[in-house]
Amino acid sequence: MAAAPLSKAIAVYCGSSLGKQQAHANAALSVGRALAAQNRPLVYGGGQQGLMGIVSNAVLQNGGEVTGVIPFAMHAAGGEQDKTSKDQPAKADVENSDPGKMQTIIVDSMHERKVEMASRSVGFIGLPGGFGTFEEIFEVTTWTQLGIHSKPVVLLNVLSFFNPLRQLIENGTKEGYINPANQRLIVFVDGPSSHDEHEKFDWGTAALEAIETWKGDDTKSRFNWRQKKDGSSSVSLESV
Ligand code: AMP
Repeated sequence: MAAAPLSKAIAVYCGSSLGKQQAHANAALSVGRALAAQNRPLVYGGGQQGLMGIVSNAVLQNGGEVTGVIPFAMHAAGGEQDKTSKDQPAKADVENSDPGKMQTIIVDSMHERKVEMASRSVGFIGLPGGFGTFEEIFEVTTWTQLGIHSKPVVLLNVLSFFNPLRQLIENGTKEGYINPANQRLIVFVDGPSSHDEHEKFDWGTAALEAIETWKGDDTKSRFNWRQKKDGSSSVSLESV
């Protein structure tokens, strides 16, 4: 099968831990399956742990393509660890997947990792996670706000996990720190109104629909991010 064009790739940000909710793990699985079904390569932080491992294994097991981007220090230490459980969960079996569909890019720093992940992707999906997930979600959102790129950020609000974050954004808007027009930079997918249905809901397909229907920002950025201080010009994140 011909490689899917990189321009369809989606970065998924989620916990390097498994969390406690089966519905979160199932949502991660559904994201991986939907990416593979729609021939959209996954870009993620590399490794096998937590929800990150579930997403990437689901993509590979369903014939999709995966690019993991991991800093050398983490790679050298054997990858990331679940942050909340002493027992490392069993690694999912990916023996049936084609090794040619997984590539790992080793970078030198967390900052490089984020640039690499964002530049390889046309949109971002956030699943439940911890500090790393929050940081990544907000960083790519602010890059759209600044005109560094213009890409959708879709958060899967499984069991209302992201409600406090949505409230924080609403508060920032109410208090005059977030332009109301920029609230659309993050799209929340709430899923079924009953939490009982969240374990079985197809979050992955819903996320990709939200990405496809996202209305980009036509406002021209005040900043020319290609311009360098020595007068030369660099490739922007948008065009990679
Ligand atoms: P967490 O949500 O804390 O489990 O982290 C999810 C992912 O974010 C993991 O791959 C972390 O390595 C990554 N991460 C944590 N902190 C940062 C950071 N400052 N910059 C980039 N990625 C990070």
